Amino acid sequence: MHTSRTPMVAGNWKMNGDLVTNEHLLAALRNTLNRSLTSRVDVVVCPPAVYLGQVTAWVGDTGIGLGAQNVASTGNGAFTGETSAAMLADLGCRWCLVGHSERRALLGETDELVGLKLGQLVQAGIGVIACVGESLAERENGITGEVISRQIGALLESMRAADPQALVVAYEPVWAIGTGRTATAQQAQEVHAQIRSQLRQAGLDADGIRILYGGSVKPANAAELFGQADVDGGLIGGASLVAEDFTAICRAALG
Ligand code: PEP
Repeated sequence: MHTSRTPMVAGNWKMNGDLVTNEHLLAALRNTLNRSLTSRVDVVVCPPAVYLGQVTAWVGDTGIGLGAQNVASTGNGAFTGETSAAMLADLGCRWCLVGHSERRALLGETDELVGLKLGQLVQAGIGVIACVGESLAERENGITGEVISRQIGALLESMRAADPQALVVAYEPVWAIGTGRTATAQQAQEVHAQIRSQLRQAGLDADGIRILYGGSVKPANAAELFGQADVDGGLIGGASLVAEDFTAICRAALG
């Protein structure tokens, strides 16, 4: 973690929760995530779209940012079932994930579509958390660098218009998501350094852009991962649903 970048910890709730469970989780987080923490770490929670209204009412004065998990690739119009970036902004969303591997693998999202979504968010003034990552087969075939470079390359044009502070890349090796298998701190650092160097070569303010690690981050491994020079925090799935664990991970980001 570099001292010039504010660390970020974002919780991706995925398709989990209901009104009552969310209320309990949020009440617990209100007790544990105090201002002294949220003033030094950008803490973000990304609930399912239907609960954004519930959570936006709650985050109010906590210093925690609201994030969405997905956005439409176009502006408002005849796109049944979609949610536009303008609507997310209207609800108070400060952040939105794009390119999560579950959406790439299960819903067929292409690099091109992810780029369009990123562009919509930048236009609406919403911070982007752009996810990239290789599969197990790609890692075993020694093409991790190539895959990450292609995924980042496809987003560079849309990234140019973004404020570096509102642009975050999340490196999430697919084989580490929800599997309990984490990349070693060295494996994470290697890919993060590659991403930063690609952003720099493309003329972006690479030192201002945060790069998060995601994939089975837990209280026990967070500090070592976040201790790497190019790891600026984490994107947390399963552990973000447990207030105690999510808080411990946020604390680990303080260094
Ligand atoms: C994720 O879904 O972005 C993620 C990193 O999940 P988990 O922490 O559960 O591996």
